Amino acid sequence: MSDHQPEKRYEGKAKILYSTADPDVLLTYFKDDATAFNAQKKGTIQGKGEINCTIASVLLQWLETKGIPTHFIEQPKSNEMLVKAVTILPVEVVVRNIAAGSLCKQTGLKQGTVLPQPLVEFFLKDDALGDPLLTRDRLMLLNIVTPDQLQELTDYAQKINALMQEFFVSCDITLVDFKIEFGTDKNGTILLADEISPDTCRLWDQQIADPQARVLDKDRFRQDLGKVEDAYQNVQARVLAQAKALQ
Ligand code: UDP
Repeated sequence: MSDHQPEKRYEGKAKILYSTADPDVLLTYFKDDATAFNAQKKGTIQGKGEINCTIASVLLQWLETKGIPTHFIEQPKSNEMLVKAVTILPVEVVVRNIAAGSLCKQTGLKQGTVLPQPLVEFFLKDDALGDPLLTRDRLMLLNIVTPDQLQELTDYAQKINALMQEFFVSCDITLVDFKIEFGTDKNGTILLADEISPDTCRLWDQQIADPQARVLDKDRFRQDLGKVEDAYQNVQARVLAQAKALQ
């Protein structure tokens, strides 16, 4: 039996990372805490930890079977995920299929505009600076990634988007946009890390035309649309049903 005492390595807004007996493995605990607008809005979404952990586990495992290397190892409890230890790259990679959120605010594009092709964007992971949008040259200037790594991230982002669109279409859900994070393991290999969940994706119910009623993601919390828990549970049920159908 291991006498390892888990140590808290890092606590973020939605998750806590603990050490395990194996230095190459970390335990992620998913919290019910929700934040928005750079943590200016705070609250709790009942059951979110378990739901997001479950959805992320299903999606990361599925992506792994499709050739995307991820940090996922296993989901030992409903709100806990064992992951490979990685050094997280300080960029948030956002992929968009339909205009929403900051893209509309910054460009004037109308919310709901279908983009002619998926847009891959990079934001600096820095709350104090408000996570600014980065250009390719700024990424190079800040030495965040090498040109080869940037190409690799872009290729992975496009591939993950195509796969996730395929998965969510089968759930009758439109994948509007999402944020992913990557890390490097001790060999320098890039792995998809963090989570993919209604906290990090915009998901619209394909059966519903009303622009507020169709929202199945954290925008319900951001915009006080109500029925936040229902939306997260709804996504979980559809994702689990689709995972079962794929078995
Ligand atoms: N996103 C995220 N974490 C962030 C910022 C964005 O998970 O810190 C997700 C967000 O849920 C959406 C996508 O990334 O699915 C694009 O977000 P956007 O740039 O439009 O920012 P927002 O207006 O949502 O802050």
